[in-house]
Order: sequence, then C-alpha cells, then structure tokens
Amino acid sequence: MSETAIPKPHFDKEALRRKYREERDKRVRPDGNEQYIEIKDHLAYYLEDPYVPTTEREPVTDHVTFAFIGGGFSGLVTGARLAEQGITDVRILEKGGDFGGTWYWNRYPGAQCDTAALIYLPLLEETGHMPSEKYVHAPEILEQYQRIGRHYNLYDKALFHTQVKSLVWDEENARWQIETDRGDNFTAQYIGMGTGPLHVPKLPGLPGIEDFKGHSFHTSRWDYEYTGGDPKGAPLSKLADKRVAIIGTGATAVQCIPHLARACKDLCVCQRTPSSVDIRNNEPIDPEWFKSIATPGWQKRWLENFTANQTGQPVDEDLVQDGWTDLSKRVRARISQLPRENLTVEKMMAAYEDSDFEKMEEIRARCNEVVEDQETAELLKAWYQQLCKRPCFHDDYLKAYNEPACHLVDTDGKGVERITEKGVVVAGVEYEVDCIIYASGFEVGTPYERRSGYDTIGRNGVKLSDYWTDGMRTLHGVHVHGFPNMFIVQATQGANLISNYPHNLTECGNTIALMVKHAQDTQARKIEVTREAEDAWLELLLQAPPMMIGSTECTPGYYNNEGQGWGEGVQRATGYPHGPVAYFKYLDEWRTSGDFDGIAFT
Ligand code: NDP
Repeated sequence: MSETAIPKPHFDKEALRRKYREERDKRVRPDGNEQYIEIKDHLAYYLEDPYVPTTEREPVTDHVTFAFIGGGFSGLVTGARLAEQGITDVRILEKGGDFGGTWYWNRYPGAQCDTAALIYLPLLEETGHMPSEKYVHAPEILEQYQRIGRHYNLYDKALFHTQVKSLVWDEENARWQIETDRGDNFTAQYIGMGTGPLHVPKLPGLPGIEDFKGHSFHTSRWDYEYTGGDPKGAPLSKLADKRVAIIGTGATAVQCIPHLARACKDLCVCQRTPSSVDIRNNEPIDPEWFKSIATPGWQKRWLENFTANQTGQPVDEDLVQDGWTDLSKRVRARISQLPRENLTVEKMMAAYEDSDFEKMEEIRARCNEVVEDQETAELLKAWYQQLCKRPCFHDDYLKAYNEPACHLVDTDGKGVERITEKGVVVAGVEYEVDCIIYASGFEVGTPYERRSGYDTIGRNGVKLSDYWTDGMRTLHGVHVHGFPNMFIVQATQGANLISNYPHNLTECGNTIALMVKHAQDTQARKIEVTREAEDAWLELLLQAPPMMIGSTECTPGYYNNEGQGWGEGVQRATGYPHGPVAYFKYLDEWRTSGDFDGIAFT
C-alpha cells in the first residue's frame, strides 16, 4: 500500500505542536519538584491514619525466614507464592493498619482502578474471586488484599502500623537485622521490599498553607468524619452546607470531584493542568460470561493478552478492550499501513504522533459535548500527548461541571498562589471556603530512602543509596550485588509494564519463591547476584529505546520530574529492551531452568 492511502489527518499538526509547546512552557518552573513540601513535623497530622486505630503491642525480637517490607500487592503476591512453595515463616511489615498498600490509603469517594479488574487484581484464580465490574471500586480491591492475606495465612505474623527504621546485613550470620518505629528488633534470612512508587503524600509548598483556619486533608487520608458518606459511595451528606476547594485535577481528583460536586454547597476546583479524560464504559461482570472464560489458567491468558495488545505485539484478539489497548491498536494500525521501506524510527514516531493527535482531539471534543458551559469546556481541554500525564477515564467527571455547585477555577498553568486563613487565592482573587482538599499527589522524584524511611545497608556497611549514586543497578530490577538475600519487588529494570503494575509484581513474586525454595533445597545460606551479571544486565538495558514517559518535551508532572527530567540516571530507569512480553517469557525460562544464571547460591 502506498503512503498516500493513509488517511490525511483533519487537524493542523503544526498548530497543535505549537499549542502543546506553549502550554508546556508556561508550566515549567525553576523549583521543579522543590515546589512541593515534605509532610512532617508540624504538618505530620496530614499523615495520620483516619481508618484504623493503632493498637498497642509488644515489640518482636525473634527470627523469621522471610520479612517483607510493604503490605501492598508486592508483599502479598510474594507471601502467597512463598506459601505455595511451603515457606510460611513470613512476616509482612506495613505502615498502614491492614494490607492494601495504596488501596489502604486511597479510600476517597469514587476511588476506582483504571485498569480492568480481571488483569489488575492478582491471584483471582487462586482465591476464587469474580470481580463485580470491569473496573472495580476501591473497597473491592481492598477486599481482594484481605482475601489473599487470609487465604495464605499472611495475617498471622504481619505487623501493621509499623515502619522499618533500620535494615542492616549481617554477613557473619547471613541474615538481615531489622528495627522498626515500634521498638521491634528482629532478624530475617531474607528480605523483600515492595514499598511502591506512590505512597508518600505531598502538599504544594504554598505560602500560608499553615494559616488556614478551616478544615483540610489530603485525598489519601479522606476525612469521612467531616464529609459524611463512605468509600462505598454513600453521599457526602455533611458537605451540604460547606464550601469546599479541591487543589489538583489529576487521576485522584477526576474520580472524587463528581461526588463532591453533587454534595457540596459550593465546590471550587483549582486546576493547574487539565487531565485527559476519556470514556470509561464500566459495566458489571456477568457471572455466566465469567464462568465461560474462567477456565483453568484464564488469568495468565488474560494478562498475557493485555500485555501483548498494550505493547504493540501481534495478537489475534483483544480480550480486555480498554483505553490502554485502544491507543496501542491505533498506533499499530497506522504503522501497519506504512510501506516496508518507510519503517524507519522517524516514520514510526510520526505515526505515533498522528494517532495521538487523533485520540487527543477526540478527548478534547468530548469536553465540548459533555460540558454545557463552553467556556468551562475549553478550559478543561488537555493540550499534550496522552502519555505525557497519567491518562484518565471517567464518565461523570466532565458532567460534574454541569452541577450548579461546581466551579472550575482555572489558574492558567500557574497553580494556586497562596492559602489564607479563609481560603485559596488564585490570580489575586481570594475564594473563601470551609474546607480545602489536597489532591496534590505523591512524592516521586525524592530520594528513595526518604520515602522508605530507611536506607538499606549491605555488605561492608555499603548503603544502597551510595551504591546507586549514578542510578539504579540490578539484575531484573530485583537483585543487587553486595545486598545478599534481598529482593526488590517493582517494575523498573524488569518488564517496566506501567499500564498494569501488579503484573510485574506477580512475576517478581513467582521468581523469588522459586529462588528461596532452590536455596533451601540446596542448603545455600545466601542468594546474591554476581557483579558481572549485574553489569551485563545494565549493558543490555542501555540498548533500550528512550522511554516515551518522562520526556522533558512533555508538560511538567511527576512523570518527567516536573519538567526537569531525570538526569543521567534516567537511562537506567528503563525496562528490558525487547519489551514486557519478551521479558516475562525470558524470566519464566530463567527461573524454571533451575540455573538462575548470574546468581550465586552459597
Ligand atoms: P497527581 O500527582 O497526578 O496530581 C496532582 C495534582 O495536583 C495535579 O493536577 C497538579 O497539577 C495539582 N497541583 C499541584 N500543585 C498545585 C498547585 N499549586 N495549584 C493547583 N494544582 C496543583 O496525583 P493524583 O493523586 O491525582 O494521582 C497520582 C497517581 O495515582 C496517578 O497518576 C495514578 O498513577 C495513581 N492513581 C491511580 C488510579 C487508578 O485507577 N489506578 C486512580 C487514582 C490515582 P499539575 O498537573 O499542573 O502538576
């Protein structure tokens, strides 16, 4: 097929590029990530747990086979796979009052997962759970954590409301020494770490933030005492006489604003950058249909199908059919129309850009279709490529602006200026409110040891933060030389599959359990990646094409370190160069061969 057969886009690409650049430029600020403040000291009350009271307990001083830091999906899937291998002496440590990780904290009204439940929720087949809807709401996600915890007896040794403060490798005894903020001081032969990418809330560093005399809270500590309602969707009845400002319009705000718009006397949405909000099309799952697909091995098939579709691999069908696979299918369709001789990187990037313009034009048009006030509709339009910021999907968000109580206060990219005793100031205008809700997100670009609350000290007293001064170095994103018997459960330097994070974690958990079992079977005391294998992995990773996510060409946000990029280390914040599908296949062969190439069992 000749190139002329490709339908010519009906938009002015140059004008769009110019608009994207202008909108980006007006948002880039010299203080970058420093514009946010760490929540501590006199602001520490923003971190208090409103959901589960802390109970007194005696400190633990024993020894366990495996200690896992973090009670989110990483800890649970690893604990589950260890249990399946007969390793049950496992202790999960968690700063929240229950399992759940990000879903323990994020109980704001409307909280829901943007990835389809059949692939997002781990261990559905093992626990026998059928999700109630295509995109499940937060309470059901939390229940799945608890179900996994009960199913695999992971509650028995878990320590909640507990934060690790010190983690030191003891070479002589081949074990880790762990101390916590609850006075615990115990040892573990192995440790796992799954502290998650988004778990420390942050506040905008606005002048006057401490002066506000009304009520305020962060979305990840939703105050239902104040608002009324509950995470299951009961109306926020106590807000009927309240004027509320919400700061932020990211993925969290998009989900809770419809609930606030219906409940408040007056809602003032302070917007700095609009999110792209595509259709959601959620629907209940029909048990009969579920029965027909839930044949043995179904979840693995669905996971593999989604990953292939989403990452542009040739597949016959798209089982999940959502916004993530839609974008990939569009790009693939355009690329497949390119004549063979035109399959250059430039042409493929141009095809990607065309698909993205097309998609974003649809999303922008939706603002005009749904929002009655056309001035507001214009202000809600996102002027950047879809993957510059976290794409959102919602069917009630735009409609919320048709509620009489809901007012958009657009800041033209500048953000809220300051907070006063009475409310928020935007462009010199004070908006008096009773309550400010910070939907201002989570720390991302800050040092990992600040977010975790401890540094990890490996062999010869080497700190992990020092070992990683020039950027992360691992094998598979999991194993670090000089830090034996330690496993990091996350996606970077592995599959790096962002659209379905738990898939990465489940694969890590599968691998770790097999390795620990192998060590036990061979009576090895230590599992450690060799420096050579770590070097070789890094060399391989550096062949990966630059990531789309994180580009400084994009409008600022946490994806690109607030427009400043990630510096030299960014090249290492990547994944397997051949993509997630190939990575999962490689990893499966690596762990099931029994060789664990590059790992020393001693
Ligand atoms: P984000 O970091 O995405 O959003 C923070 C918001 O605060 C942005 O809109 C930001 O504007 C705004 N902001 C910051 N400072 C100011 C200021 N001074 N004035 C006005 N606005 C300001 O946090 P979220 O909590 O929304 O989302 C975090 C992540 O959590 C998501 O990206 C997603 O990965 C995850 N999430 C996942 C969900 C799921 O379905 N799985 C659901 C919800 C969240 P600006 O954009 O200009 O920086």
